[in-house]
Amino acid sequence: MNERKNIVIIGAGVSGLASGIVALQNGFDVTLIEKNPLVGGLCMGWYRRGRYLDGCIHWLTGSKSGCDLYDMWTNVHAFRDERDIIQLDSFGTFEYQGTKVTFWRDITRARAEWISISKEDTKMINKFFDIVEDFMAVPAPIKQPVAYLPLSVLLSFIGKIIKHPSYLYTMRMSCEGFAKKFKHPALRWALTHVQPGPGNLFSMIYSYSTITDNNGGVPRGGSLKMVNNMKDYYLELGGKLLVNSPVEKINVDKKKKVATSVTLENGKVIEGDYIIASLDPNFTLTKLLNNKYPKNSFDKRIYNYKKNPLPGCVLLQFEIEDLPEGNYPLSFEIEPLKVGKTIVDHLTLRSHAYDKDTYVRDNKVICSMLIDQYDEDYYEWKKLLKDETYKDEKNRIASECAKRIVKQLPSLEGKVTVLDVATPWTFKRYTNTTRGGYMSFMFTTKNDMYSSDGRVMGINNLYLSGNFMASPGGLPFALSTGYHAVQRICRRENIKYALATQRELNKEY
Ligand SMILES: Cc1cc2nc3c(=O)[nH]c(=O)nc-3n(C[C@H](O)[C@H](O)[C@H](O)COP(=O)(O)OP(=O)(O)OC[C@H]3O[C@@H](n4cnc5c(N)ncnc54)[C@H](O)[C@@H]3O)c2cc1C
Repeated sequence: MNERKNIVIIGAGVSGLASGIVALQNGFDVTLIEKNPLVGGLCMGWYRRGRYLDGCIHWLTGSKSGCDLYDMWTNVHAFRDERDIIQLDSFGTFEYQGTKVTFWRDITRARAEWISISKEDTKMINKFFDIVEDFMAVPAPIKQPVAYLPLSVLLSFIGKIIKHPSYLYTMRMSCEGFAKKFKHPALRWALTHVQPGPGNLFSMIYSYSTITDNNGGVPRGGSLKMVNNMKDYYLELGGKLLVNSPVEKINVDKKKKVATSVTLENGKVIEGDYIIASLDPNFTLTKLLNNKYPKNSFDKRIYNYKKNPLPGCVLLQFEIEDLPEGNYPLSFEIEPLKVGKTIVDHLTLRSHAYDKDTYVRDNKVICSMLIDQYDEDYYEWKKLLKDETYKDEKNRIASECAKRIVKQLPSLEGKVTVLDVATPWTFKRYTNTTRGGYMSFMFTTKNDMYSSDGRVMGINNLYLSGNFMASPGGLPFALSTGYHAVQRICRRENIKYALATQRELNKEY
């Protein structure tokens, strides 16, 4: 490149950080602009009463060496290598009327244990675990945008999918529908409750298969450490970072069809040759571009939330003394509890004792509880805020959940302390994510998997990236779309795209 071009990135979540690093690796100057004092966005952790609380990673797809995502995580220094990853023993244990069903990471153990619970379900149990094994066999080609994939890679991927008909079967099957094929009530309960509401069997098995494949571990030190690793590397490469700097507007030269700069809320204007909007695209299109550009495929989904639910949550954090031994996360039935608009019939207690240095002090361990919420729940929380009953409701839910933990584990009487409660409103306020959704649209039996090319019609040098660019979203999509935005810019600039290590080896990506 003769003259270094400047990329302005709005949003320093995982996606923005990844774009920033990869752009620097490819010879661009980068200014990364973040509204909050810390980088990380939804991939976050915070402190209460001196204890670190993690606000994100339950499993990180791509934490096993040898796959594309692992290379992409390590290239941006999210973690060094597998030494920084903790593999959990299971995806969770589900207790129903005295029977415990565990989704063990060790698939042989899980299969045998389930059959011992219900011999008459052997055929269905084998079918379930065979599908999980199928999913482990087909990693998605994620290194490049779909449109850039060489035909051979695309055909090989399609060939593998055809060889595994379970993929198509699970896309049109709900977890509830699949569970009904089992006879034992505890197996039915576990399969219905293992993932949020309307998600299809595909999403559930995909997530579980990352665990059984040792590819869904958690980073040692938590989410905050992981994003700080990325930030440190970004700064080391010479990237510029502005925090506490909300962007108010993207300025566009309509005649030339280019975005010229962004204006911050403090009035400062920052110019760029390219702009990557690495935040919720609904916010970018409605607020930063003042609703003047079409939303394409995104538009249809955002307003039709009955068909395309956005998963949100209430996230509770506890300090628990003398937590009984056992397998966690532990999910159990409860006396129904209203959270937002939803009546919740079970809770899942996640002990973070797997990372002792980060979460255990004396005999007190940090535990969290994620309660699923959807679009209508978000509106309920917003209403509570208006009525000024928001805080009371948070406290009520926390105390009701603490009571239910003690009912399940009576030895914990007097030993559960609530440290924090976050609601869909918290996530919305913090990151501008639509309706407090913490992941992209759910992949259900009623919709299709979607992926956006990140372009805005009428603005040639603006690229959208982030978790919302594809369903079902999450960290792998935040990361990969961050890379893809830079790949698109490289192609426009006629630059041979390469990563740091590959550049050193003089090898094309
Ligand atoms: C409780 C919880 C648990 C989760 N668990 C998992 C998990 O186990 N595995 C998984 O894969 N994913 C998980 N996720 C989802 C994951 O965190 C997100 O998908 C991912 O972090 C999204 O990254 P992003 O960069 O696309 O978006 P964001 O993190 O939303 O980044 C956007 C950034 O833009 C900033 N921004 C917004 N508006 C402006 C503005 N006007 N000006 C400047 N900056 C702005 C925001 O502050 C933010 O930093 C979880 C999320 C939550 C909340």
